[in-house]
Amino acid sequence: MTASQRATARVTVRVPAKVNLQLAVGPLRDDGYHDLVNVFHAVSLFDELTATESGAAGTFTVRVEGESAAHVPADSTNLAVRAAEALAKHAGQTAPDGHPYGAALLIRKAIPVAGGMAGGSADAAAALVACDALWGLGLSLGELMEIGAGIGSDVPFALLGGTAVGTGRGERLTPVPVTGSFHWVFALADGGLSTPQVYGECDRLRATAGEEVVWPSASEPLMAALRDGDARELGAALVNDLQPAALALRPSLARTLDAGRDAGALGAIVSGSGPTCAFLAGSAEHAREVSAALAGTGACRAAVTAEGPVPGAEIVS
Ligand code: ATP
Repeated sequence: MTASQRATARVTVRVPAKVNLQLAVGPLRDDGYHDLVNVFHAVSLFDELTATESGAAGTFTVRVEGESAAHVPADSTNLAVRAAEALAKHAGQTAPDGHPYGAALLIRKAIPVAGGMAGGSADAAAALVACDALWGLGLSLGELMEIGAGIGSDVPFALLGGTAVGTGRGERLTPVPVTGSFHWVFALADGGLSTPQVYGECDRLRATAGEEVVWPSASEPLMAALRDGDARELGAALVNDLQPAALALRPSLARTLDAGRDAGALGAIVSGSGPTCAFLAGSAEHAREVSAALAGTGACRAAVTAEGPVPGAEIVS
């Protein structure tokens, strides 16, 4: 890239949130992580990230706007900055003309923060795609996924999108065939839940109950429902092993789940580590009805509709 191209370059990437259709938490490993079987599903609730050349060569800055922006760090701990820095390191820190890689990132958030929808990982994925294009690196999806896995176990899926089974810490992905689209309603909560705290509570509840923790595997009924495009079967097959822990830490979520079921949802589940709750509807119109009914109960801060699966992080301009 020449200096004049560099001055005008700007890349905007759109990246989806995820909901876990199945989150099966296996035994705790020696490294502190759990072995998981995680069926990720990308939904049309998007953050947008714009990357431009930074004012001072070789520096990284970030600005955050939108949904709960005040709760997102605007410094080098932001996952998008960490991802951009990791990419620069991978690329050798300087362009062939000797110009040090750097970027000014602007994130417009719509994905709830600390909401169990992997918003931070989504922004990291968006930064990888945006900076790869900004710096003209031309890395493959596989290479970006590998760099992303070093930032967080949900980042590779935010790059891949669609629907996929994740194993290990969730970062080893196999795409799952899906017929058609599914329609969702997400009940947004006030404040977030800390993912490590929810896993800790899950371990504590299991130890207290003397529960034997089995090796997780992908749910066959869930895979069949996705393959057949059957929303009713999918609603019945949704499962989240973290849900009891999220409910223990945030008892009001039981009311949110009940309100969605009462509103006619085909399935109701805490999304990932919560506190966002996900409800499956039979059609776009049904989703709008469930959303309006949920919002009317006051059992959540807001309700939004979305559909899935959608593609992973992609350049929009
Ligand atoms: P997951 O579902 O992957 O467990 P989550 O959706 O519950 O994650 P995130 O929105 O990813 O949670 O944010 C978790 C924490 O990460 C936030 O509290 C915030 O301090 C920090 N964070 C760092 N970078 C970002 C970012 N770009 N967007 C949101 N949070 C970020």
